[in-house]
Amino acid sequence: MLKTGMTSQPISTMKNKNKKALNILNILANTERTTMLGEFRKRKLSAFQMLIATILSARAKDETTMPIADELFKKYPTPAKLSSANPHAVKKIIRKIGFYNVKTKNIIAASHMILSEFHGKVPDTLEDLLKLPGVGRKVAGCVLVYAFDKDAIPVDTHVHRISNRLGFCKTKNPDKTADCLEKLFPKKYWKIINDTLVHHGKTICKPITPSCSLCSVKNNCPKIGVQKQN
Ligand code: SF4
Repeated sequence: MLKTGMTSQPISTMKNKNKKALNILNILANTERTTMLGEFRKRKLSAFQMLIATILSARAKDETTMPIADELFKKYPTPAKLSSANPHAVKKIIRKIGFYNVKTKNIIAASHMILSEFHGKVPDTLEDLLKLPGVGRKVAGCVLVYAFDKDAIPVDTHVHRISNRLGFCKTKNPDKTADCLEKLFPKKYWKIINDTLVHHGKTICKPITPSCSLCSVKNNCPKIGVQKQN
């Protein structure tokens, strides 16, 4: 049987898997949904503000992050303003967000680097975004999708968990999941994956006790009834 160049899976098996995954994604994407970054995109935050909000949101709840990011941007809306901020004043604003010490350091340092190396503009490539302090693949992907409308698949804990529960991937960490999803879905779908799976993860497919009985894709899920974080 013919094999693809990328993997040892037979082409027919891959096609079936891709079709099934697309079907599931379409069902989930048809649900009305709101996520923090989706909300920020609707409000047309600048690329800089989207970057800072995404760095702040790591391991923090959206309900906590959103109002704090708004407060921060009232005082420091641009890289120039934030780069010259007093770290104590920034910490005072973001102190209710987890890891606020390191996040303060990173957002000020990222502002400096945007000014010194990128002419005051947030870069719009994965390679350059990854040079900024506090920016890993997930944050970079969020900025590409939500600030620049580019094709990328940001993988956070929700996207990673659900991709594995639904059988899209069998992966141990978010970066591997990102690689897997990029192979599984055609590029034109990449932009909706984060928003769709994050919303599903926050409302239905929660980490410990997912609401499988309410799930629109339960008939396609090999992990229906799962009770723990996997
Ligand atoms: S059936 Fe349950 S485990 Fe599967 S995707 Fe739906 S909520 Fe998640």
